[in-house]
Amino acid sequence: MEKVIIVRYSEIHLKGNNRGFFERALFVNMEKSLGGIKHEIRRSSGRYLIENFDESQTDDIVESLKKVFGIHSLSVGLKVKSDMDEIFAAAKSVCSTEGTFKVETHRADKTFALNSMQISAEIGGRLLSQFKNIKVDVHNPQFTLSIDVRENGTTLVFNKSVKGAGGMPVGTSGRGLLLISGGIDSPVAGHMIAKRGMAVECIHFHSYPYTNLQARDKVIELAKVLSQYTCGTKLHVISVTAIQEEIHKKCNGEFMVTLLRRFMMRIAEKIAKKVDAQCIITGESLGQVASQTIEGITSSNSVIESLPVLRPLCGFDKDEIIERSRAMGAFEISIQPYEDCCTVFLPKHPAIHPNIEEILKEEEKLDVEGLVNFALSTEETLKI
Ligand code: ATP
Ligand code: MG
Repeated sequence: MEKVIIVRYSEIHLKGNNRGFFERALFVNMEKSLGGIKHEIRRSSGRYLIENFDESQTDDIVESLKKVFGIHSLSVGLKVKSDMDEIFAAAKSVCSTEGTFKVETHRADKTFALNSMQISAEIGGRLLSQFKNIKVDVHNPQFTLSIDVRENGTTLVFNKSVKGAGGMPVGTSGRGLLLISGGIDSPVAGHMIAKRGMAVECIHFHSYPYTNLQARDKVIELAKVLSQYTCGTKLHVISVTAIQEEIHKKCNGEFMVTLLRRFMMRIAEKIAKKVDAQCIITGESLGQVASQTIEGITSSNSVIESLPVLRPLCGFDKDEIIERSRAMGAFEISIQPYEDCCTVFLPKHPAIHPNIEEILKEEEKLDVEGLVNFALSTEETLKI
C-alpha cells in the first residue's frame, strides 16, 4: 500500500489537440513547485500521480501544488494492487470512523472480476461491519469513499478532494511584464493574469534615496509570494529618481504623478520588448485614486507604442482586491508602511482629470528620451 497524491487538471481537457502542450507545461510547473522535495510525477490516463515521496511531507506537497495553476483538484489516497482484500485494507485506512457515506467506484479495467456497482456494494458492506458509527446515505453522504480501478492492475482509494487553484498552466498563454509597486493591487493583478496561463516578469520603479531600502525589500518579498504562483519570476528594478527630480525642478507640481506614470509606461514597454513580453500588466482599478481616472489611464496609455496593457483589476472594488490579496498570501506584506516612489514629491492637489495638451506642454520642458535611457541604465535584474 503506497501513499499517492492524485492531481486532476482543470481546463486542460478542453484544449483538444493542444492537450499535450498543456499537460507538459503543467508537469514542468509541478516539478518546479516541488523543487527540493523528493517525489516522482507519473501521468496516468488524464491525471497525474505524485508518488515515492516521504509521507511526512504530504502536507507540504499538497500546499505547494495548491498554488499551481491548471490543477482542478487534489486527493491524497492510497495505491494498492487491484485485489478486493487490498482495496478493503486501503478503504479501511482512509475511511472516516463516523458519519454517513457512500462508496463510488470507477472501473477502467473491464477485466476485473466485479463491476463497479459490485465493488462499491462489497467494500461498503465490509466497512459497515468494521465501523459501528458509519451509515450509508447515497443521496447526501458526509463523505464519499472513491475507488478507482486502473487498467494497469493498480487501484486508487481516496476519501476527499481539495480544490486546486484552477486556471491554466503558467507558460501556456505567453509572457507579460507586471508593473509591481509595494501596494496591494499589483501583486493581485499578476496573480490573476498568471491564472490565465501567462508567465509573469515584474518591473519595479524606486526613488532611492528618497525611498528607503525597506521599500525595495518589501517589493522583493511580494515578488516572492507571486513567484509561488508564477513558477518563478524576474524582478527588474529601475531608478526613477532622476526623472522625479527633473519633473520637480522644471514642471508644474500638479502633474508629477501623471508625468511619472508616462515615464513608467515608456520604460516598461522597452523592458517588455527586451524580455519578449507580449503585454504590460498593471494593478490599476478605475477611479480608485486620482491617477486612475479614465483621463489618467488615457494619459499613461497614450505613450505606449505597440503592446497591449492588461488591467485585470479595472472593475474591482478595493474590498474584492483585498480579499484576493489575503487569499494569495500577499496582504500582510503589502500593508507594511514603506513608501512607494509615487509619494515622493507628491503635490497637495494632483491633477485628477489631466488634459493631454497640458501634459504635452509640461513634457516639452523635459529631455524625455534622455531620461528614459538614463533610467534604463540603472536596471538591476533579480531572479526570484
Ligand atoms: P498598488 O496597490 O498596486 O500600488 P495603487 O492602488 O497604489 O496600486 P497606484 O499607486 O496609482 O495604485 O498605481 C497603479 C499601478 O501602477 C500599480 O498597480 C502598479 O501596477 C503601477 N505602479 C505604481 N507605482 C509603481 C512602482 N513604483 N513601480 C512599478 N509599478 C508601479
Ligand atoms: Mg501604489
